[in-house]
Parts: sequence; C-alpha cells; structure tokens
Amino acid sequence: MKHPVVAIVRYEKPMESVRRAIDLSRGLQHLSPGSRVFIKPNIVFWTKEVRFPKWGVITTSRVVEDMVILLKERGFDHITIGEGSVLTKPKYPETPAHAFETLGYNVLKKRYGIRCINFHERPYEKVDLGEGITLNFNSDILHSDFVVNIPVLKTHSQVVVTLGIKNLKGALDIRSRQICHSADPVKDLNYMIARLPKAFPPSFTILDGIYTSERGPGFDAEVTRSNLLVASSDLLSVDMVGAKVLGYETSQVPHLVHAARDRGRPTDLSDVEIVGEAVESVSSHHEYSFPYTEDGRLPIGMERMGIQGLSYWKYDLTLCTYCSSLTRVILPAIARVWKGKAWDDVEVLTGKTMKPGKGKKKTILFGKCIYQANRDNPHIREVIAVKGCPPSSKQIAGAFHKAGIPVDTSSIEKMDKIPGSYMRKYEGRPEFEETHFTVS
Ligand code: SF4
Repeated sequence: MKHPVVAIVRYEKPMESVRRAIDLSRGLQHLSPGSRVFIKPNIVFWTKEVRFPKWGVITTSRVVEDMVILLKERGFDHITIGEGSVLTKPKYPETPAHAFETLGYNVLKKRYGIRCINFHERPYEKVDLGEGITLNFNSDILHSDFVVNIPVLKTHSQVVVTLGIKNLKGALDIRSRQICHSADPVKDLNYMIARLPKAFPPSFTILDGIYTSERGPGFDAEVTRSNLLVASSDLLSVDMVGAKVLGYETSQVPHLVHAARDRGRPTDLSDVEIVGEAVESVSSHHEYSFPYTEDGRLPIGMERMGIQGLSYWKYDLTLCTYCSSLTRVILPAIARVWKGKAWDDVEVLTGKTMKPGKGKKKTILFGKCIYQANRDNPHIREVIAVKGCPPSSKQIAGAFHKAGIPVDTSSIEKMDKIPGSYMRKYEGRPEFEETHFTVS
C-alpha cells in the first residue's frame, strides 16, 4: 500500500515555494481538467473598523494568489474562493466584503476570472455525518469537485491545533458551529471536528506557515515568522505533520486521535512519507492554552495583578466562538477597572456545562446556554443573567455593573475596534509584512 505523502517546504519565493509544495506532495495529480475547484482559506475573523494583526491569524493572500495562478497554469478555469468568517453581525455582508476587498480577492476575481463567495449569503444544506450527527454545510463547497484547503499553521486554545480538518468548520452555518461545541462529554468538540471531512469532496491541503502562532486562533496570539508550507492531498496526514511542526504529537491532539482511529491509522506518522525538509528540523513548540491559575479561577496575568473576589473560570470546549471572542474582550476590560479592592465574591460561568463554585455571592451566567443550564441551580445565591446568544455588549456591561464590577461599557461596545490595539506589538518588526495580505 502506498503511504500518504506530505511535503514540508520553506517559503522562500512567491510562486516557486507553493509550486514546490504541490510538486513534492504530488497534490494535484489526480485532478482532472474541467474540475470545479473550491479554495477555502482561513479568515477566522474580520473587522472593518481598524487595521488589525493578520499575521498567523488569516491565510496570506500571497499563498492564495500563488495557488490560483498555479491552478490556472494547470488549466483549471472554474475556481471559487469562499469563507464564512466569525463576525459580530453575521447577517451584514459589508464586513466580509471589506475582507475580500482588503485581501485582494476582488483583484483575483478580475485578473483570473474566479468567483468569491461569503458563505453567510449562500445556501446551506444538511449533511448526515452518521452517529446521529447532522450539520448544515455551505452548498457551493459541497458540490465542488475538489477543495484546496489553505488554513494557517497555528495552534488553538481549545483544540490544540487548527489546521486542515478544523478549517472545514468554517463551511458550517452558525447554528451548526454552535452544535459542534456540544455539551455531550463523549460527542464533544473534538469528536465533532474529526467527523467534518466526511462531508467534503477530495482535497489538497496546504498549511500556510509563513507566520505561525501560539495561543491562537485570534489576533491576540503570539506570532513567529516561520516561512513554512506543509502540503498533502491526505487531509489527516497533513494535519498530523502540521501538529508535529507546531510541537505536538498526534496523540496530544484529541480531534486528530479521533480522526486517525476512524480511519484505522496509526498516530505516530509511521505510515506517512515526509518529503522536503525533515520534520524535526522545522519543529518548534508553540503553546496553545492561555495560562490560568491551577484551579482555573483566573488567567495568570489577572492573578498577578492581585485581583480578588472574582472567579472568571477557564473556558472549556463547550464555549463556542462568539462567546469566546467576547471573553477576550471582557477580561482586559475587567483588568482595566481593578483598583485593588476585592470584588464581592463574583464568579462568571460560560459555555454550556460549568457548575457554580462554592460560597460565591453572585454568579454571572454568561450566555443563553449556561443560563439555561443553571438558572434554577439551588447552589447559586444570586443569579445575574446574560441571556443573549451571543450576548450583546449592553447585556454584558449591565451584568458586570450589577455585580459591582464597573467595566467601561463603551470599550465593550467598541469591541470591533479592540483588535487594532494589538498592532503595537508589531511596530518596528519588518519580518511582519502587511503586503502578504494584499494582491498587487
Ligand atoms: S450562548 Fe454563547 S456558548 Fe451558547 S450557543 Fe450562544 S454563542 Fe455559543
């Protein structure tokens, strides 16, 4: 039996490096001319309010354009690029339109005759993945002949790494994404992600590691210029090698363990042929989890500030992307109003399954799911409800004020602007090139 081939290539030059990755991995060999090709980049998040760090967060337009040119060179004329980014207002098309314009996709459209689609404006259809799981996927990608999957080579604070398999979650509608963050302890997020590839046509994956990130997947990650590409037409193999490049054995990445088990594959890379660079020579450890106190009460940084009287329990797998993005805004907002006087034994529960801690006076139930799970919990002395899904900035600020934590309402309302403040980290660092996110 032939072993799946994974190519590891250093990104050195436009066109040539992606070409080498395709050639070494023999990734497009089985694609017949006339095939309808769907390119799925990763635009995990977007705001049109400010310039924000895209390095290690969003697929570079450099690799996307290289891929389009190489597909055209091989005679493929039916090319679509599509994404369904996480947006504060998913139904408003202006933000994805701004993303496509900024990333140069409209130039690609004119220059190469490709199509660009925002999943949120397109039809979805139900796919039965077996074992009682039915999810809604974008129809365009499902009915393409071939998917070129171009995620970023990055870690993920919940599922360790987010590579080719996880990038497919972006083709789900919002409700199905929420379902993936299931409260079922067996059919959890990792289990659900591992099943996503079943819905898709054959694919070629190229992990864009020009920039790699720790504690992803968002703009607050720690990013390194790594200049790497990892490519294969075997989705699981490319992810296993990508995880290794980020410093993780497959056995440390639960969704890859599920996927390997389903396919009867070993998790030690013994059945994978790696070509190009040696994996050991390009691997480096990338942390994935945000550091919290041992009991999960607070992020370490907030504990070091001496914050008392507040338990904002560490997120779990059931917290879905929208509530998770809000948490990233709220925690700094809380830190900013700490004046050294202990708050009134407040705790914040998030996700779908958390239970109240002992002896707390006030419990903020953050989001519809956790509200429904705990609204009648007799161990809670005072419930402060944030019932939205996802919660609105007004509901959030109101709840914290009620709990005696005077977060600045306007900073939460302007959450679309917050990513801009992270640009400071990149000032004076020429290795972070904005031109990688445009098409000239
Ligand atoms: S309330 Fe939050 S965790 Fe629950 S489904 Fe909505 S966004 Fe997800």
